[in-house]
Amino acid sequence: LSRFTVKILGSSSATPTSARNPSAQLVNCDEKLILIDCGEGTQIQLRRMKVKLNRINYILISHLHGDHFFGLIGLISTMNLYGRTEELMVYSPKGMMEIIEIQLLASQTVLQFPLKFNVIDPNEGFIELFEEKSFNVFSFPLVHRIETCGFLIREKDRPLKLRKERIESLDIPLDKFLEIKNGANYLQPDGKIIPNSHLTYPPVKPRSYAYCSDTRYCEDIVEYLMNVDLLYHESTFMQSEYEIAHEKYHSTAVEAAKIAKLANAGKLLLGHYSARYKDLLPLLEEARAIFPESFLSFEGMNIDIEVREQNINRE
Ligand SMILES: [Zn+2]
Ligand SMILES: [Zn+2]
Repeated sequence: LSRFTVKILGSSSATPTSARNPSAQLVNCDEKLILIDCGEGTQIQLRRMKVKLNRINYILISHLHGDHFFGLIGLISTMNLYGRTEELMVYSPKGMMEIIEIQLLASQTVLQFPLKFNVIDPNEGFIELFEEKSFNVFSFPLVHRIETCGFLIREKDRPLKLRKERIESLDIPLDKFLEIKNGANYLQPDGKIIPNSHLTYPPVKPRSYAYCSDTRYCEDIVEYLMNVDLLYHESTFMQSEYEIAHEKYHSTAVEAAKIAKLANAGKLLLGHYSARYKDLLPLLEEARAIFPESFLSFEGMNIDIEVREQNINRE
């Protein structure tokens, strides 16, 4: 299987703590690097974790609250100083381009690489942002004080897997392999049809990762998240602070767990913690009471996205 990992660069909400940075994550999907959010200090976190900055292909910014983008100008400047020449694509709600342009202008920075901005309009609902050879990236609206997007990275369907021993025993020629992998039956020279199900295993299920930060509890997003393998959902507060969470358009760990359960997620990753919590275990316990496969994200954490079920036995 190709690589599909999430690296946590920052797990704090609005204000950083001595142990936690503001929001940023690095997703490696089939060796393409996608940075999701870029809070202050993200480039330092990337350096600490030995990521080559200029390997980053895409940047997705969920919304224009400072804890999600204040690190962007610094990262872009450093990429430039490192001699980047490849295009960099930034996806975000409207306003990001203007913010970066004025900073480049004021600091008289001339970029040596093409920097492109794609504006996401969250009112458009669930939309595809781009595709790569083996995966697609989508955005969907969250419920926050300003326009905010969630993101979904989903691998494409894979072809069927050939049952080698049966292919060999039937002496099927090599030039038929591709169509069989794509679902075709095999017509033998004697006219007998061998059904595809006899010749193949089902493909490995495509994996997916969803990022939901920042947002108030909202069941409308569940339809975009159904069966996601790994769900990151903000959990700024404990349930005792439920009213503050609601008022500030954030979620509690319990609410994150409810969304994970409704969406039948494989695993839930908590994050975007309020700086008021030194010890995060109580948040985890609250989430696990509802959704046992809950985990705390922390700086430096690396998560492999795993295939959940694999039906190898057919017939
Ligand atoms: Zn935030
Ligand atoms: Zn926010």
